Amino acid sequence: MSDPATPSATETAPNGARDPRAERSLGAQERYVRQTIFAGIGREGQDRIGRARALIVGCGATGSVLANSLARSGVGHLRIADRDYVEGNNLQRQVLYDEEDVRRGLPKAVAAAQRLRAINGAITIEPRVTDVTAENVEELLESVDIVLDGTDNFETRYLLNDACLKARIPWIYSGVIAAYGVTMTVLPGETACLRCIFPERPLPGTTPTCDTAGVLNGIVGVIASMAATEALKLFVGSDRLVRGLTWVDLWENTFERIELPRQPDCPACGLGEYEYLDAPIDESGTSLCGRNAVQVRPPRGAHASLDLAELADRLRPVGETVGNGFLLRLRVDGYEVTIFPDARAIIKGTDDTAVARSIYAKYVGM
Ligand SMILES: [Zn+2]
Repeated sequence: MSDPATPSATETAPNGARDPRAERSLGAQERYVRQTIFAGIGREGQDRIGRARALIVGCGATGSVLANSLARSGVGHLRIADRDYVEGNNLQRQVLYDEEDVRRGLPKAVAAAQRLRAINGAITIEPRVTDVTAENVEELLESVDIVLDGTDNFETRYLLNDACLKARIPWIYSGVIAAYGVTMTVLPGETACLRCIFPERPLPGTTPTCDTAGVLNGIVGVIASMAATEALKLFVGSDRLVRGLTWVDLWENTFERIELPRQPDCPACGLGEYEYLDAPIDESGTSLCGRNAVQVRPPRGAHASLDLAELADRLRPVGETVGNGFLLRLRVDGYEVTIFPDARAIIKGTDDTAVARSIYAKYVGM
């Protein structure tokens, strides 16, 4: 076991360069002592954690707990991708956010990065305010050691499954609803992937959502904490990784672990067909889980980055506009239209993608 009294050698950034933020922060020795004296990690394991790079996709309920755990554990580089902004009903379970974030209407990735930097100034936090799509997922996966699922939808999970198998990057599926949740680590070429177990993506509306079933914050903490711990095991090279799917129901007091073999004829990990990664982008808009809101993406090819100040000038005569430097919000015709610099918009006040697209065309006009 490591001697916790031994002074830390140096405070360096994960890439080895001296990081001025580390000068101000706690010494690594002091900060991580409860991990380094844990036999499964030790000083060497902690060094590996410090060099690790993780992508967290979605920073809502599970993503918040994942990011919080990994930042406090000292994971050297956290890339956090989220498409949404903070709202009041998030605070019940999305532990990185507070009332001030709601008042400012910050994008979740931005608010998360601010909080995580205050928690651990010695690691790198890379916020990405973006939807994760077949077009950008491979770029987001670049140079990461693991991908953690903090999403609330199967569209993104099937895309992550394909992209991670293709790039041979481990990923951890996590899903929670009501008082139950599941998590499963996918080790490409070794363990079953998402499509070995559920060959086809469930159709929208066929699975319970947080809109119809609610979600308790306790199960979020349990499932995301299990996933974050699996990530640490992976970083330190532990042989204790869970192989199989874990199912927990906190209301019914059940805990099950289901061993699942790989399927040789699995289209993704067996045959190497990545149909969700290769699929054309659906341009009809995406209805967001439990939100009475639709996300509209700009037409393909129109990769303009918007000048939000200019757009605000143009929209001011139309309705009430508020900006915060990260997004622009327009209230018009009973809708709340939130426009991001990447020309995406979230239109609140409808679940109808056609209605949302017409509002988008009218006011954003891409
Ligand atoms: Zn498979």
